[in-house]
Amino acid sequence: MAQQYRITLLPGDGIGPEIIPVAVDALTVVGNQFGFKLTFQEGLVGGAAIDATGNPLPEETLELCRNSDSVLLAAIGGYKWDNLPRHQRPETGLLGLRAGLGLFANLRPATILPQLIDASTLKREIVEGVDIMVVRELTGGVYFGQPKGVFETETGEKRGVNTMAYTDSEIDRIGKVAFETAQKRGGKLCSVDKANVLEVSQLWRDRITAMSSQYPDVELSHLYVDNAAMQLVRAPKQFDTIVTGNLFGDILSDAAAMLTGSIGMLPSASLGADGPGVYEPVHGSAPDIAGQDKANPLAQVLSAAMMLRYDLDQAQAADRIEKAVMTVLDRGYRTGDIMSEGMKLVGCQEMSDALMAALEE
Ligand code: NAD
Repeated sequence: MAQQYRITLLPGDGIGPEIIPVAVDALTVVGNQFGFKLTFQEGLVGGAAIDATGNPLPEETLELCRNSDSVLLAAIGGYKWDNLPRHQRPETGLLGLRAGLGLFANLRPATILPQLIDASTLKREIVEGVDIMVVRELTGGVYFGQPKGVFETETGEKRGVNTMAYTDSEIDRIGKVAFETAQKRGGKLCSVDKANVLEVSQLWRDRITAMSSQYPDVELSHLYVDNAAMQLVRAPKQFDTIVTGNLFGDILSDAAAMLTGSIGMLPSASLGADGPGVYEPVHGSAPDIAGQDKANPLAQVLSAAMMLRYDLDQAQAADRIEKAVMTVLDRGYRTGDIMSEGMKLVGCQEMSDALMAALEE
């Protein structure tokens, strides 16, 4: 019998419902080509879930995800929900999903595609050949540390508090993912922290340094986050794999993303110790272009390829999708976010048609 996989789809908000079907079509085509079957079930998350149930992550959605082989998420959020109390905000659903599935490692590749090199705002000689993997810790640090909240002081003044905290074991498990990722790539790992100021960062640096003796084939270096931000735009080719905490990783992975010219091209994977991973584009829900057939579906499609590779062990099918993406770019198809002179401007639907044609060839 053909291998079968249950995939949970979380289209979320904004352009999500436009780009998820493109990935589903691509997955279905390669499933037929490589002899495996995918069944898809859809769940509510983010603003769509708030509208339907009042909760950005209904329990049914989490259960659906837990009972599937993998999860394909688009994006959440939009102006409509921006002023709700924090526990009802779309982002709370996303954080809950990560915590609920134990997804502590976020892998974000930032690779320059030769076809899009001129879409980068940096000079060609700076970005040509950039191939970075940012490994971001996802369930600890200042986004989750306690105490957190807005409290009233004795003088009646309000005081907002978040706590940046990491334990040994939290650092060790993300360190392991990072060292192993670097081993499979160029063998260089740069750990980013703020150990000159923050105690939590000193612990981070000590643990990562202690682990390095187990990985003699990986060359470890350390940078303070402010310097890392500068180096990323000054000389990004010095980086191979970067490991960092939740807050610094959030910021640096977006900066790394922009080196490539378009956030609309970048996939990501969020992984736990076991169980399904969540695969999603790096970009948000792009409410400014939602419903206008302008969205670039390729980051979503490349996220589906990462899912095939990491969760479903279907590397050949992943290669097939990645190759088809290169083919449509070689043929000059561009959505607005990656458009350049002489190329053919298309919408989400036309990009999808071109991709399916390349996949079926
Ligand atoms: P964004 O990534 O949604 O959009 C930034 C810019 O990039 C916009 O101009 C948008 O039109 C463009 N863009 C993004 N993806 C695109 C695509 N696939 N094709 C073409 N253009 C694309 O970031 P933002 O504007 O800061 O946030 C919008 C909403 O998304 C907010 O509610 C935010 O909270 C949410 N958000 C969600 C996630 C997530 O779900 N993981 C991540 C970031 C932001």
